[in-house]
This record gives sequence, C-alpha cells and structure tokens, in this order.
Amino acid sequence: MTRAISLHDVSKSYTRGTRVVDRLTLDIAPGEFLVLLGPSGCGKSTVLRMIAGLEDIDEGDLLLDGEFANDLPPSGRDIAMVFQNFALYPSMTSRDNIGFPLRIETPGADPRPRVDATARMLGIEELLDRFPAQLSGGERQRVAMGRAIARHPSAFLMDEPLSNLDAKLRNHLRAEISALTRELGVTTVYVTHDQAEAMSLGDRVAVLRGGVLQQVGSPREVYALPRNVFVAAFIGTPRINLLQGLVRAPLDGAMTISLGKQYLRLPEPLSLDHQLLRVQQGREVIVGLRSEAVRIAKPSAARPGEMPLTGLVEHVEFQGHENLVHFNTGSRPAVVPDLEAPRPAARPARRRRRDGGPGVLDRLRQRADALRAGPVVVLDEPLDDAPVTPPDGRLPGDLIVRTTPDLQLRHGMHVPLLVDLAHLFVFDQHGERISPAPARLPDLEE
Ligand code: ADP
Repeated sequence: MTRAISLHDVSKSYTRGTRVVDRLTLDIAPGEFLVLLGPSGCGKSTVLRMIAGLEDIDEGDLLLDGEFANDLPPSGRDIAMVFQNFALYPSMTSRDNIGFPLRIETPGADPRPRVDATARMLGIEELLDRFPAQLSGGERQRVAMGRAIARHPSAFLMDEPLSNLDAKLRNHLRAEISALTRELGVTTVYVTHDQAEAMSLGDRVAVLRGGVLQQVGSPREVYALPRNVFVAAFIGTPRINLLQGLVRAPLDGAMTISLGKQYLRLPEPLSLDHQLLRVQQGREVIVGLRSEAVRIAKPSAARPGEMPLTGLVEHVEFQGHENLVHFNTGSRPAVVPDLEAPRPAARPARRRRRDGGPGVLDRLRQRADALRAGPVVVLDEPLDDAPVTPPDGRLPGDLIVRTTPDLQLRHGMHVPLLVDLAHLFVFDQHGERISPAPARLPDLEE
C-alpha cells in the first residue's frame, strides 16, 4: 500500500512567536516522489519530522490517506525514515540490523525471507554477515535503506540520506534510490538543500524559504517558470544572472529595459509578455538571464528575438567541458540574500481562523507574509557567492555566460553578446515574476 500525504496550513514554532514552518499546504499523491528543497534552516527536516510524528504540529492538519493524523503515534503511521546519519547498531550484523524492526513489529515471525529479499533488491547480499565497522559509508547507507525498505512501509521519509557520502557515490546511490522507490511505488518525501539532487530525483520539487512554501512543481516547471527570484536563483547551475533594470516604455518608440550602461530593446511586435511590461514604465525591475539565454556572437548573427549587448571579459573559469565567462556589462547585480543563510527575520505567529478555510483577507495576508519572509532580493550590492572571489570580495563581472572550452577569451577583451529575449525573466521589486506572466493569477474570490 502506498500513502497520500497532505499538509493543510501546517505551522510549527519551537520558540514562541517564531514560525519555522509557516502555513504549509502540500498534497503528495500516492506513489509520488516529492523533494523538499531549500537552504539550511528553512524548515525541511521539521516538515519531515511532523509527517513522521516525531514533532507536534502546532496548527493545521496532517492527513494520511485523507484521515486526520496529527495525533497518530509514529508507530501507527506505517512510515519509514532514513536519515543523514543513520545509526546502525554496531554490535549487530547487517542482517540483524535490517531484521531488527521486523522482529519488533512481529515478534516470533522469522524475518529472514524479507531480509533476504530486501538484500537482493539492494544488491547487498554479500554484506549481510558483516558488522557496520566492516562497511564503507555507501554500504552502510544501503543497509540503512534496507532497514527502512524491509518493513514494506507505505511511505518513505528521507532526510539528506546521501549528504555524508562522496560525490561519486552520491550520484550512484541517487540513481539507486530513484530506481528503487519507483519499483516499490511507495510515496517518498526527500529532503535536500542540493538543487541538482532535487531536480534529478523529484517528480515534483517543493521549494521552501524561511518556512514558507515558495513554489511546488515539476523540476522542469520550477526551472523554466520560477515564481520568484528566490526560486530562480536557487535552482540551476551556474546560478541565473540577476541584473537590475529599468523599464522604459515611451508612447512613441521602442520599449527598452535599461541595464545600467546598456539596454535591451524589446523586439517588435511586442510579445504578450513584453506588452505586460508596459505598466512597469519607469520602475526598477530585476532581469533574470540564465546562462543559456546569452551567447557570444556578433549583432549581424542575431536570430529573431535576439538583442545585442557588449561584455568586457573579467574572468574565465575553465570547467573542462565548458568555460564560464564572467563579463562586465556595466549593470548592477541584484542579490538574493539568504540562499545559504539561516532563517530570515522572524515574525509573530497568528491564530488560525476557527472555521478552517482561509478568507480573502487571510489569503492577502499569506501573500504579504510570503514576501515578508525577508527580502527576496537586495539591490545595489555585489553578488555574494561568486565561484571566484577577488581580494576586495566583489564578483568579477555581472553576467556569466557558458562557452565551449575551445573559445579563446582573455581578460580585458570586449566581446559581442546576443541575448535571447524569449528566455528573459523579469521580476518586480519584490522579486515576484512578472514576465513571462504568472500562468495563474491569484484568484482571491474562490
Ligand atoms: P532544515 O532541515 O531546512 O535545515 P530544520 O527544520 O532542521 O531546517 O530547522 C528549521 C529551524 O528550526 C532552524 O532555525 C533550526 O535551528 C530550528 N530548530 C530545529 N529543531 C529545533 C528544536 N528542536 N528546537 C529549537 N529550534 C529548532
């Protein structure tokens, strides 16, 4: 059996007045692999522990297969958890470690058949008679997985299970976890701060920031249509270029987005998304350009929808299969402050409405709260996590572009660039995406 897990308006505070999870609503379908993604301290583990029953829920409802489950003891939830530091019993062999929960669950029953079947599935039969001290990190994690799987739980909760392993093993086990959970068809909630891991594993990815859900969608959706600057910047490598811009929409003449010393002219006829930018006339916006939206080529080579810029080469990062070129285009980068920081500014918890459903005011408050989780963007500061940091702490350049490794570019060269405006994101000053237009506008009437 596999479980549907629903969280409705779930909140949690450890200290009075500070919500570490703030009105989280999430429906996880039976058999789905959902990844909870966010920076350290954003409340991911707390969510997982509330689902497992290891942490009380202050407000809101947890439903397991549609049944109210807030008060169900952990043992009654039929859910298995795999942690980052999964402690195996050192004095037990792998066989006994895997069989231990089975012996507790059904005393007297012979756990061997299940243990053997699980070990076959995980390819760890030859490890069954070894003790934990005789296993490598990856092998130990496999045994730990075996211990969770052997119980045939109706859901798995995994809390950064691979983060203690080296990169190669992590990739390998990631693929194994993906194959295994699909084969078992068991609902899985997987916590990670690693966006690449989230993107490669999840049917859907739920991005959390400061305890507030920012967006939930397929990996493709959250990458291609990030709801706000935070999601855009958290997902994707190299990180999306975020530049401060100013929309100019004169009554006669072309619409442009000024980027400091240069500007992008929006091609005519204006696309629907670009037409919507007209109302931003005179306002500061944030322009998001993933590295694939910019290429090195002369203006004469422009395809429809590509507009020229010039960049001064500041730094070239050799990556083997590609180069990352840092250009200075004379624009100011916008910074997403808390990508790696702990929870942003706290705010007081509010009481839940007695009648359950949120009203219009509550929904407006929720939107405001989502923004209040701290500023999504900070303007007028240098980027904070450059791959290479020069002595004064400033990032060399404001625009990172991928190139083939054979392209010879040197510091100080002026290079023509083409920006594909079909891949241009525009965010408002609060960091919310305004172009492409949000697919669904908030429906406050419903
Ligand atoms: P994540 O898993 O995203 O790193 P956690 O859910 O572990 O985040 O923690 C969210 C916030 O709650 C953090 O600020 C953390 O310090 C705090 N926190 C977690 N557990 C406790 C606890 N038992 N008591 C007090 N604060 C806690």
